[in-house]
Amino acid sequence: MPQQMINQQAISCDQCDYHINNVHPQPYVMDQHGNRVTANSLSHTFENIYGVSKHTINAVLNGQINDAAAEALQKMILNLSGKLYTHSCQECAAHFTLDPAKDKHACPHCWSQRIAQINDGDHCPKCGEGKLN
Ligand SMILES: [Zn+2]
Ligand SMILES: [Zn+2]
Repeated sequence: MPQQMINQQAISCDQCDYHINNVHPQPYVMDQHGNRVTANSLSHTFENIYGVSKHTINAVLNGQINDAAAEALQKMILNLSGKLYTHSCQECAAHFTLDPAKDKHACPHCWSQRIAQINDGDHCPKCGEGKLN
């Protein structure tokens, strides 16, 4: 699926074998069971999970509808969606995604709070010498 390639950006360390497949923020929608379903298109994914027409969702998000129902829907969309950012742990070098707006700021593997968002050009969290690109 070419659409899925849009969000893919792999980076790796130029000094060691540290490698991350995807550092782009990944939008997601939470389903009825609390699972986060990553989404290329929020409105499309919302429609699939909750049966709300994506035209309605786009209109609400773009501010084209402003009544009470639209306001409620907008709140629901914001509650149930977010963006996952790739982070790395400076204690155990694990990398993982979390939503900084909603999640605990800690490594899910060792619970260290010394974690940082990963971006192009950062120093490698594993060897500390190389650069990520
Ligand atoms: Zn850790
Ligand atoms: Zn490295």
